Amino acid sequence: MRSFKLFALTSLAGALALAGCSSSIDDGEWAQHGRTADEQRYSPLEEINASNVDRLGLAWSFDLDTRRGQEATPIMVDGVLYTSTAWSKVVALDAKSGKLLWEFDPEVPREWAVRGCCDVVNRGVAVQDGKVLIGTFDGRLIALDAKNGNQIWSVDTIIDRDRYYTITGAPRIVKGKVLIGNGGGEFGVRGYVTAYDLHSGNEAWRFFTVPGDPSKPFENPILEKAAETWTGEWWKVGGGGTVWDSMAYDPDLDLLYIGVGNGSPWNPAERSPEGGDNLFISSIVALRPDTGEYVWHYQTTPGDQWDYTATQHMILADLEIDGEQREVIMQAPKNGFFYVLDRATGEFISAEPFAPVNWADGIDPETGRPNIKPEARYHEAGVWEGLPGPLGAHNWHPMAYSPDTGLVYIPSQTLGFPYIADTDFEMKELAVNLGIDLAAASLPADQAIREAVKDTLQGHLLAWDPVKQEERWSVPLGGPWNGGILATSGDLVFQGNRNGEFAAYDARDGSKLWSADAQTGVVAAPITYSIDGEQYVAIVAGWGGILPLLIGELAWVDGKPQVNRSRVLVYKLDGNAQLPEPYDVARTKSIAPANFGSPQQISQGANIYARYCSGCHGDTAVSGGVLPDLRYSFSLSDRDVWDAILVNGALTQSGMVAFGSELDEAEREALRSYITHRAHESGAVAIARAEQEDAGQ
Ligand code: CA
Repeated sequence: MRSFKLFALTSLAGALALAGCSSSIDDGEWAQHGRTADEQRYSPLEEINASNVDRLGLAWSFDLDTRRGQEATPIMVDGVLYTSTAWSKVVALDAKSGKLLWEFDPEVPREWAVRGCCDVVNRGVAVQDGKVLIGTFDGRLIALDAKNGNQIWSVDTIIDRDRYYTITGAPRIVKGKVLIGNGGGEFGVRGYVTAYDLHSGNEAWRFFTVPGDPSKPFENPILEKAAETWTGEWWKVGGGGTVWDSMAYDPDLDLLYIGVGNGSPWNPAERSPEGGDNLFISSIVALRPDTGEYVWHYQTTPGDQWDYTATQHMILADLEIDGEQREVIMQAPKNGFFYVLDRATGEFISAEPFAPVNWADGIDPETGRPNIKPEARYHEAGVWEGLPGPLGAHNWHPMAYSPDTGLVYIPSQTLGFPYIADTDFEMKELAVNLGIDLAAASLPADQAIREAVKDTLQGHLLAWDPVKQEERWSVPLGGPWNGGILATSGDLVFQGNRNGEFAAYDARDGSKLWSADAQTGVVAAPITYSIDGEQYVAIVAGWGGILPLLIGELAWVDGKPQVNRSRVLVYKLDGNAQLPEPYDVARTKSIAPANFGSPQQISQGANIYARYCSGCHGDTAVSGGVLPDLRYSFSLSDRDVWDAILVNGALTQSGMVAFGSELDEAEREALRSYITHRAHESGAVAIARAEQEDAGQ
């Protein structure tokens, strides 16, 4: 009797768990960030398939009011499409017609932009039980009423507002708790993830990913163990390990997986000078979602010093490996290896490089540790031309897994970086804090060298066999920073790309079956849904994110900057809506003053530019197209205007913070002389003059 009762209770709990699952997974909906908690980004819909996708046409579009990077995956439930946009705004649209139902603006202070490494992007909302959850760039987690967008509750998720924390990731909801982490690993912060009650907003638990000051009590027992893998005074510089993007959940194992970011500062000499693995940076960590209790971890890059985050998208799947059915978790982190782990235990199963890698000679199958090349340790060995670089062989752009083909589809890229230690490093306000000499790592002025570097950059839609750990097929896309991926039961994979195209490929062999002009680079991932028996495919288009901000000219397409035209684009079979003719975004046509400043001043300006400005305005003062190209700035020729912006914050409302507190008069003048010098050296002045003459001015 007793055992029967136990059995009955167990099966009742099981039935409830199943009911809880299935009620939220409707084939026609896209109710969670990765569609399902396993984050496969695979839809069973097949009305649109390989045989008819050439009939796909625009059903509707919706223009967004921000011209910054759009990285969100929308949610579609109950006929409403919810998406976040740049500056953490939210729109709710009728998913069939595109009609605006409501919009929400959390009014993020624009001067907060300088606190983020990677554009004022947002990767999505979560929706459940009539609530829409958004994490804001300035660190709030806000619950909105799904019916009208009214705010229900708001909490401050940031533990220390003097440190540069930001939120760009999508919240996840597991068992009535909203989970959110943050970014900041480029500025010197300590990473953590927090769970809040969905209904009240009350904090349920918080898990720190790296230990704090060991003279104070550890927040949980595992951090005492983790502290043994650190040396020096890491807590003063933060340590890193931010949970800025990926999570997944297995309801059967009741495990929540979080992807953990890089060490902060990057240079280990500034963080943990005597070495050590520095747990749990660059790791996948499994936690109990009810309590935040640690269960297991796997560190992809022990002692990371290259910004090789393990925050990249994680997919749960069941694979047959060596004749055995395995419950696995898969990740293609920045470091270039594709990992397959046992998701119950964290046991290493296999890893192989999915892109060119030169920092490690493979992963030891016994220990699961990479064989790191000594010369890659740039803080000891000098300059290291690393491959991948800090933007990764794969960044946040979501991959997808199709159980039909058994393949994982990865937006992979090849993009190196010269890692050079900054031997005079000190922590600064309003600047990135990496411990890397960014001026020395900048591109040389010589145009032939710049073109040669550009030619080495690659991007692919890569179909990867996770069992055999080998490429099945790939499609070259002309360069890095292409969109996330959707796989469907219609034997299709969808992806937008840097070239301003949204395309469908045959999931089996990669042949391109359809494409549309998105009028802007696409970096976000598409979704699909069905209403009244009709299937739709949706994508949020809009060029941006760290790559076009940071690498400037290297991010150009066909010899010019890609333009941001932010829109929600939705397609269906025989859709016949039209996009308006692409509008042009005018460049400020001013002419820089004559060159001024001594070589020392220009060189000092180059250093200041690299540390304070290049992360947004582009390497060596050439913009990638999203933010203003300072070589054309009207302020260059007028020192009063220059100071009005840099000291008095004249452009704060546009997101340009005042640097007057950090840069003194001589430094500001050195910066102005460097950008002026670059305007002449790069030919921008000549171009601006020719354009003004053409316009008859
Ligand atoms: Ca990072």
